[in-house]
Parts: sequence; structure tokens; C-alpha cells
Amino acid sequence: MLAEVPFSHYFCDEILFMKFTSLDDWNIKSGYPFIIAGPCAAESEEQVMATAKELSQAGVHLFRSGIWKPRTRPNSFEGVGEKGLKWLQQVRKEFQLPVTVEVANAQHVELALKYNIDVLWIGARTTVNPFSVQAIADALQGIDIPVLVKNPVNPDVELWIGAIERMMNAGIKNIAAIHRGFSAFENTKYRNKPTWEIPIELKRRFPDLPLLCDPSHICGKRDLLQSVAQKALDLNFEGLMLEVHPNPDKALSDKEQQLTPSAFKELISSLIIRKKDFDDSVTQSSLEELRIIIDRLDEQLLEKLAERMSYAEKIGLFKKENGIAIYQPERWNTIVNHVKFLSSEKNLSEDLMLKIFSYIHKESIRKQSGVMYEKKKGAGKPAEG
Ligand code: PEP
Ligand code: MN
Repeated sequence: MLAEVPFSHYFCDEILFMKFTSLDDWNIKSGYPFIIAGPCAAESEEQVMATAKELSQAGVHLFRSGIWKPRTRPNSFEGVGEKGLKWLQQVRKEFQLPVTVEVANAQHVELALKYNIDVLWIGARTTVNPFSVQAIADALQGIDIPVLVKNPVNPDVELWIGAIERMMNAGIKNIAAIHRGFSAFENTKYRNKPTWEIPIELKRRFPDLPLLCDPSHICGKRDLLQSVAQKALDLNFEGLMLEVHPNPDKALSDKEQQLTPSAFKELISSLIIRKKDFDDSVTQSSLEELRIIIDRLDEQLLEKLAERMSYAEKIGLFKKENGIAIYQPERWNTIVNHVKFLSSEKNLSEDLMLKIFSYIHKESIRKQSGVMYEKKKGAGKPAEG
């Protein structure tokens, strides 16, 4: 559901105080779109150096690599740890490519700083936990290093903002948010549902906060990456984070979503980059944002209709058990009057609303009849009524 924005947030001092620096003012080379790429995890010195070599020639701005991996289940590859930081130092030196790693606790922060990592990122499984985020914030107190904050795994914009505020309060000046999708109970075509209205809401509240998208963790598989990356750019995201591995099928984590360096280059060159200051692109992205909201509202309308129908079935059962007729003309009259009243109150066409409700009512009667005449085992066909 689209996050409710409390009125107080527009005027709250805390929020007004939050000023963000643009990526161009960070102390690393930037560009539009800002591209972060690299393997899900550092696995060996050769793998890290081979990937970095290719990516440094592909115009990547920041090299990513997990050193400590948060895995869903134990006994899977959990990262190479401190030795991987040495390989990243080499990437910086050999290819003049700034590097970023995920930190999940104070010890990670300490080690990343010891090895001169340029940018830190907070992963989705850490952002959910205010204790962990605060421990990272405490370890960063007074240190000038950019921090990227991924969204929490659950679709909660407040929790995302909370993590950003904790970084702000620790004195971190350069902060960006990364949208990596949200876990969902139901099966979707994505590994993590994009629920675009949440990053849009974040951007609405903090227009200066640089916002990037991580299509790799949203999609979970290669074939969806291009469309999600393009959509993010069409929605005015400032850049992308993509996972790249020299041999994805042999990767020790996230093998289905990692791209080979050449597939990565192909994806980047296929992207239509609309200049951010073009009126056209502004129009395009505002339209996209409105359509996302409309789609979400349609989904809610259908959910409510399904809920209404389930109550119609309950009423059908009640009528059956109590020997009450399905169609009650005075009930329909009450509904008509209620709809007329609400239509005028909400400035909707009464005529159209009554048409829509007559269909809904008809369908409700059909559902109730289904319940009333449901075939009992061994019973004959019911008479039509
Ligand atoms: C990652 O970027 O490798 C990662 C673990 O991502 P997330 O925190 O989005 O799951
Ligand atoms: Mn990964």
C-alpha cells in the first residue's frame, strides 16, 4: 500500500534539517547514470582483478564486492573476509577505481576503514534492524565516508528513512539510497518485488537524496535486468548497482542474477538515457510515477472487490442456514441510496456509480446463489430460483 505520509513530516525540524549532497560533490568520479558494478562476492584475487579490469574499461564509477555475505541459510559461502579487502586495495591502485563493500557491524566498519575502502553500503538485511544500523552509525561517528543505504527487506519507507537519519545523525554527509526491492510472501516474477511507489515516496520526501536502483537483487535472474534498469532511469533514479562476475554460472552466490562483463556492457549500452534536465524526461517520469500510483489503486480496488465478494458468500451461507431468500429488494434500495449519497459526497457521477454497483450486486447475488445451491454429496440438482 502507498505509504501514508503524516502531515507533521512536512514541517518536522528533523526532516527539514536533512540536506543531502549530490553525487557530483562526493569525492569520487561521478556521472549520469552513476554506475556501481562488481561481483556479488569477492571469491578469489583473480576473480576480483579480472572483473575490475573489464569494468574499469566500461566506465563504471564504483566497484562493488561483498566481503562478508549475509546468507539466508547457514553453511553457504559467507564471504572471504579480511583478505578480500586487500584485493580491493589492489583494484583501487591498479585501476584507479573506487571501491565499496557491505558493512553489517562495527567490526566490518573498522576493517573497511583500515583498508581505505572508499564507500560503504548497508545491506537490506541490516537496514531492517535499528540496533545494527545504530552500531554502524556509532562506529562511523565523525568519519567522512560516503554511505549507501539499501531499503529494508520489508516494504517500510519509515524504516528506510530511519536508517538514513541514523547516518545523518552520526555526521555522515554523503548518503545515497539504493532500492533493491522487497521480499514478498506470494510468488512474483521478481526475487524482490520492486513496489516502485516506496522509492518514489522516499524521493518525494527527500528530493535531494541521491537514489540508485539495484536491478540484480530485484530481479534475481538475468533476463529481467534490462527492463528494470531502464524503468529506474525512466523514473529519474540517479544510477544503478549491478552484479557482474567473470563466470556467473560458477559464482559462489547469486549466480542466476550476475552478468558476464560483456553482457553487462551490452545492458549498459542498451539503456536509453534521457537527459535529466530535458522537459521531456521530466514529463515522462512524472507520467510513470502517476501510472504506478494508478496501477496500485486498481490493485486495491480489485482487492476490495474480492473481499466484498467473500462477504457476499458468507451472507449466502447465513441465508441458506436460516431459510432466508437471496434477493431482498429493500436491501438493494438501501445500497442504491448509500451509493447515491457517497457519489455526491465524493463528486463522482451518480449514474456511473449506480451502473457499476448494479453489476457488483448482480455478481453478489450470483455468488450467494452458488452457496445456496451448492451440491451436497448425494443430493440431486437444485431447482433454479
Ligand atoms: C548484495 O548487494 O550483495 C546484497 C547482499 O544485497 P541485499 O542487501 O540487497 O540483499
Ligand atoms: Mn548478491
